[in-house]
Amino acid sequence: MNETIRYSVDAEGVALLVLDVPGRPMNLLTPDLLTALEACVDRVARDAAVRGAVVTSAKAGFVAGADLKELVNVFDARLGREELSRYARSFSKAFRRLETCGKPFVAAINGTALGGGLELCLACHHRVALDDPKAKLGLPEVRLGLLPGAGGTQRLPRLIGIEKALPLMVEGTHFSPSRALELGVVDELAADAAELKAKCRHWILAGGEGLQPWDRKGYELPGGAGASRPALAQTFMVGTALVARKTGRNYPAPVAILSCVYEGGLLPMDAALELEGQYFMELLTSRVARNMVRTLFIDKSAADKLVRRPKGIEKRPVVQLGVLGAGNMGAGIAHVAALAGIDVVLLDTSLEAAQQGRARSRGLLDAQVHRGRLRSEVADAVLERIRPTATWADLADCELVIEAVFEDSAVKADVTRRAEAVLGPGAIFASNTSTLPISGLAEASSRPQRFIGMHFFSPVERMPLVEVIAGARTGDEALAQALDFVQQIGKTPIVVNDNRGFYTSRVFGAYVKEGLAMLAEGVAPALIENAAQMAGLPVGPLAVSDELGIDLQYRILEETRRGLGSAYRQHPADEVIRRFHDGLQRHGKRAGAGFYEYPDGGRKRLWPGLAAEFPRAAEQPAVEAVQERLLYIQSLETARCMEEGVLTDPADADLGSILGWGFPAWSGGTLSLIDTTGTTRFLAACEALATLHGERFRPPEWLKDRDRIR
Ligand code: NAD
Repeated sequence: MNETIRYSVDAEGVALLVLDVPGRPMNLLTPDLLTALEACVDRVARDAAVRGAVVTSAKAGFVAGADLKELVNVFDARLGREELSRYARSFSKAFRRLETCGKPFVAAINGTALGGGLELCLACHHRVALDDPKAKLGLPEVRLGLLPGAGGTQRLPRLIGIEKALPLMVEGTHFSPSRALELGVVDELAADAAELKAKCRHWILAGGEGLQPWDRKGYELPGGAGASRPALAQTFMVGTALVARKTGRNYPAPVAILSCVYEGGLLPMDAALELEGQYFMELLTSRVARNMVRTLFIDKSAADKLVRRPKGIEKRPVVQLGVLGAGNMGAGIAHVAALAGIDVVLLDTSLEAAQQGRARSRGLLDAQVHRGRLRSEVADAVLERIRPTATWADLADCELVIEAVFEDSAVKADVTRRAEAVLGPGAIFASNTSTLPISGLAEASSRPQRFIGMHFFSPVERMPLVEVIAGARTGDEALAQALDFVQQIGKTPIVVNDNRGFYTSRVFGAYVKEGLAMLAEGVAPALIENAAQMAGLPVGPLAVSDELGIDLQYRILEETRRGLGSAYRQHPADEVIRRFHDGLQRHGKRAGAGFYEYPDGGRKRLWPGLAAEFPRAAEQPAVEAVQERLLYIQSLETARCMEEGVLTDPADADLGSILGWGFPAWSGGTLSLIDTTGTTRFLAACEALATLHGERFRPPEWLKDRDRIR
């Protein structure tokens, strides 16, 4: 038999199927696995001596999901409809054959079972899971623009009822085995591997039947199907409206899941699976799924494996990290490093200030303990690793120092010199500046080849990206060490070259400024904000501007103008920033007044004074036109970053935009959006926008030269 599944039968007629996809750290649903599974099911069905079968895995987890690389090949091969349909239904068909072959199958879930892996378990007649709190179960397909297409949308509601099943699939939630037991997704838990096997065998030997509840006569979906009960009708109506509101109709998958569950629940199982296959096919042929799988899975996995790391440099994990400045960012960086097991020296101008930074970590850890996500001894151990100080000599043993002091070149130069005076010769110095060019900051360094930019995002504990910036003189060792550290703390790196604002701040800045420019033109502020959110951007440009602070934007504007001199190009947003900073003195959220007002204890609302400051134009643009401007300006600025060599890999652009500032995932990222729109169409739209709104929309030559982006 194929070695992808090891097959054996014991003396009492219980077959054991051990999934072990060769050459992989975890099992994925590959075409080979499918073929092997089909053969095993046939064997179990045909062999009269076999009473039933236990399905388990030889790896640390059960099955991590579908092989998404295979899926991208499917997207790229542009298969004909028939071929694609065969592919889309292949797992579903095999699983249906398993559950209807007449013999009982039990899933021995020895660890993580996600996506197709959990769908295989759902097709089994009984499920026992190892009670490991670290194991993850779930149907997360929606996060990649897909739906559970191997029977999940039909079996899960039939097993636990529509009300409980829907949120798990629409949100793609992960849950632990013990939660799975509460939900009814698994039938039993086992304390260890021996008990797992024993419980599975026992269920078969005690007469467990190879017949699913939904294949029995008179079966009814728990809690009803379709809109049979008012509460259920409500679930679908509210669910659809909520999903539409949350996703701005940019994501077809959650809506497809709702439809699939609603319609499928009214059909017998075979017809329901056929219906699921049709919806799955539709998503498979959509650009959204392709974009999401490529950027959020393929590109992200490659970045996490450090594709951009220079070759031939030995890996040196950071044992002790120095963090300069225990403010918002410094405290966050210290926290994530300590969580990853790294000792941290956290330095500020006074011991009290450094202790305050450490106290922030205490707060974050306590919240985790409170929610039951962390044991208090572990939290204490994490906190122990952070050593607050105001003494520079304490940095002596650090292999890496990250500065997060005020955004001021003179202050940064001073801390660079002080740190280097005590650091060992091999140590790397990184700056977390968000705007100041790294090559300029490196002038304060006595060893600029060991000086690098590491741009974290706020709040550090939640944001997954680190933008690593190579200055003009940054050496390969510094780059390798910085990337290793990003991997050590479990974040995703992109690598960019030096430039004002690097990649993320520069392109994000273009987004915010476009919003302000529209305000100056007389576009209704609510239209600007809503259009942005409907396009899938997390926060409208005016709200973002308030969050950042008008004072900060003013400082950046003045510094950029000074830095560029006669090369500086005016932007219509400059005037808005100046007016808010100097005249109106509304400096943003922290000041309690900006484009929004922030009533005590109430929700923020757009400042009514905007109407007098920026009289509304008689004719307002369509929502789509506002969205186009806000999105396209970001793609254009990204294309300029490619042209100028700030970015060297389109994957960094796409990944950085989605993980860094929440550019809509449906687009696949800033560059992928151009591809999704079609380069020719994109170019024509930008030329038209340039004529209407200014040269910033004129497409760069780099883009014109390309037929397609990737
Ligand atoms: P912050 O004002 O909260 O913290 C700065 C800290 O540095 C303060 O605790 C201050 O006491 C300390 N400090 C100042 N001078 C010092 C010195 N000479 N020696 C030791 N400590 C000193 O600022 P922040 O928001 O944490 O930003 C810090 C850096 O991170 C800035 O360069 C900023 O541009 C960058 N950054 C900020 C964000 C953000 O969203 N806040 C995001 C990315 C990057």
